[in-house]
Amino acid sequence: MKHTKILNEPVLDALTQKAHHIHTLFNDHNITAFNVMASPGAGKTSLLLKTIQHLKQLYRLAVIEGDIVPIDVDKIKQTGVQVVLAHTGGSCHLDSIMMESAIKKIAIDTIDLLFVENVGNLICPANFYLGTHKNVVIASVPEGDDKPYKYPTMFQGADVVILNKIDYLNDHEFNIDYFIKGVLLTAPNTPVIQLSTKTDKGFSVWIDWLTQTKQRNQ
Ligand code: MG
Ligand code: ZN
Repeated sequence: MKHTKILNEPVLDALTQKAHHIHTLFNDHNITAFNVMASPGAGKTSLLLKTIQHLKQLYRLAVIEGDIVPIDVDKIKQTGVQVVLAHTGGSCHLDSIMMESAIKKIAIDTIDLLFVENVGNLICPANFYLGTHKNVVIASVPEGDDKPYKYPTMFQGADVVILNKIDYLNDHEFNIDYFIKGVLLTAPNTPVIQLSTKTDKGFSVWIDWLTQTKQRNQ
């Protein structure tokens, strides 16, 4: 699913240019935006729901959900945070055109942080710049410890890697050292945050990373 081989150069250039415009728009409005990527079931929505609980008193938040059905949108809606469906039309990744139409539905003057939940896929979302500031890549214990080795492009672009579902560590053969080594081989110096959205263990490290990133971006 290497879209770079399917899409011709001018199309990709136009998408990247649009993403740069979106980035400028975010900066003009003092918004810090995060592109959250993972395979299906790694816990993107759960991470966002818990993150909202922790941060909604501190910052004004919004979420863009890249999906074809509004299941996750409805979950986020219940938190009271602004959420918009970026309809992917069945595509396996978000691009800047989908982002642009989603952003139009957000009251952009009223938010500090924006989370974009990309399509569940560890391959092509890495190839499409959306204009966001940071890439958040989630892996989870039940998926196995070899993900950074199998999907190097995704991990290369990560600004932070989250290892979710650490409450499963006793039930699965998962070598944390091997996993972290794989991350650091492809993306040296990338922080790896081990947490569980279920038990809350490690979650404060992620919240600290987010607030520090926001402060640096102001
Ligand atoms: Mg989801
Ligand atoms: Zn794709």
